[in-house]
Amino acid sequence: MQATGALLDRCIRCGLCLPACPTYGLFKSEMDGPRGRLILMRALADGRARPAGPAREHLDLCLGCRACEAACPSGVEYGELLGRARELLATANRPAAPARLARWLGLRQLLPHPRRLRWLARGVRWARRLGLLTLARRLPGAPSALRRMAALAAPAGGPAGLPELTPAIGERRGRVSLFRGCVQDAFLGRVNAATARVLGHNGFEVRVPRGQTCCGAAAHHLGEPALARELARRNLEAFAGGAGEAVVTNAGGCGAMLAEYGQLFAGHPEAEAARAFAARVRDVTELLAGHLVAPKGSCAGRVTYADSCHLRFARGVADPPRDLLRALPGLDLVELDRPEVCCGSAGVFNLLQGETADRLLADKVADVRESGAAIVATSNPGCQLQIASGVRAAGLAVEVAHVVELLDRAYAAAD
Ligand code: SF4
Ligand code: SF4
Repeated sequence: MQATGALLDRCIRCGLCLPACPTYGLFKSEMDGPRGRLILMRALADGRARPAGPAREHLDLCLGCRACEAACPSGVEYGELLGRARELLATANRPAAPARLARWLGLRQLLPHPRRLRWLARGVRWARRLGLLTLARRLPGAPSALRRMAALAAPAGGPAGLPELTPAIGERRGRVSLFRGCVQDAFLGRVNAATARVLGHNGFEVRVPRGQTCCGAAAHHLGEPALARELARRNLEAFAGGAGEAVVTNAGGCGAMLAEYGQLFAGHPEAEAARAFAARVRDVTELLAGHLVAPKGSCAGRVTYADSCHLRFARGVADPPRDLLRALPGLDLVELDRPEVCCGSAGVFNLLQGETADRLLADKVADVRESGAAIVATSNPGCQLQIASGVRAAGLAVEVAHVVELLDRAYAAAD
């Protein structure tokens, strides 16, 4: 594992990353852009800045979208550096009791427990039916994170039953292991079900390993790598049986975390197993693009695609989702003005930094309106819930769906 100082030394302060940074675009301040944040990280690492006050505020305002990393000509590993800075900040700053309780509940009692999350999703659906979510959104004095969660809760969806093995349809091309994710599984389970069906139509037998859990991204982003490793160990164990099978995910954020298990375990006994696992990770769009069994049915309409930051910038997957959409008969793909700019979801950023997230979401919704699209296709549950909440609030008659849901519709139309 390279020392933090050596990683920071790669920054030559050229500023080429600045135009790519959404928060620099919003605030036009050096310390809210990648170059300034790297200077803050250096000051923190050298002990010249206190891990509280302004340094922390500027780093907390970072989305972790990694657009800067993709734009950097000098190979600065911004994501890795941000993870180390967040760990340092989390260790040095003890949050207030309500924030500690929320963290403990979210990170330790909910995300790692698929069954509890599914019960929560059922509860949320009932709360919506009874009008309690609207009440929570409007309740004066309600914590802003609660109001924002109520706004994000999808009107439809919820967990979907997934068999342990879904057979291939037609000529068999191989077997893959499906990563269900935590939020995806509980709140947008229909996307997992659509993924299994679409993979089946493409000749893949789909295995859903039992015992898998949250990828650990939320814990890692909140500066708790030890908890992220605990969760990752459970996933390494759950997927150990399918050596050689691709580990397929439909969530850009989870995919980026799973593909970086090697770095997460650097210097730990599991490092080799983690690297081997990471090499198997594929986004479903990456696996299918170029080899899609063309659906005979159509999925007509004007569709636009909003990139998942982690899929595009951390995994380098930008063309495959677009190629798949273009392969659908009758679908008219139009590009957003800036499809690559974060929608403000960014893990739990929209819950913790609501005002900044709202500004980014408002820009995204304006771009969607401008595009004239009837459907926004996404490739990550956070983006799907965030953009859906934005178009709902704006009163737009626009559907937000995962790319595989549109593929699934085209296969179903042919059937
Ligand atoms: S992070 Fe990269 S692009 Fe940004 S200032 Fe440093 S070297 Fe230049
Ligand atoms: S991760 Fe995103 S928000 Fe943070 S500095 Fe880089 S581009 Fe800006």
